[in-house]
Amino acid sequence: MNQIHCHFCGGSISDPATVSYRVATTAIIRAQPHAAPCPCAPAIVYGPPAGYMSWPGLPSQPKNAPK
Ligand SMILES: [Zn+2]
Repeated sequence: MNQIHCHFCGGSISDPATVSYRVATTAIIRAQPHAAPCPCAPAIVYGPPAGYMSWPGLPSQPKNAPK
């Protein structure tokens, strides 16, 4: 099981359904991951959600993204 950490506070995310995925950019500074639970609502993760392993180049305008 992959552990997900919030990129805003670095906390551990227990429920991936609450994560808000954002497109990653070079300007983003990710918080250092740590074991404490993430208090964010929603938690912020930069990059594609699980299942988008082959998302090419993290396009800023995803087209025809499956629901
Ligand atoms: Zn957080």
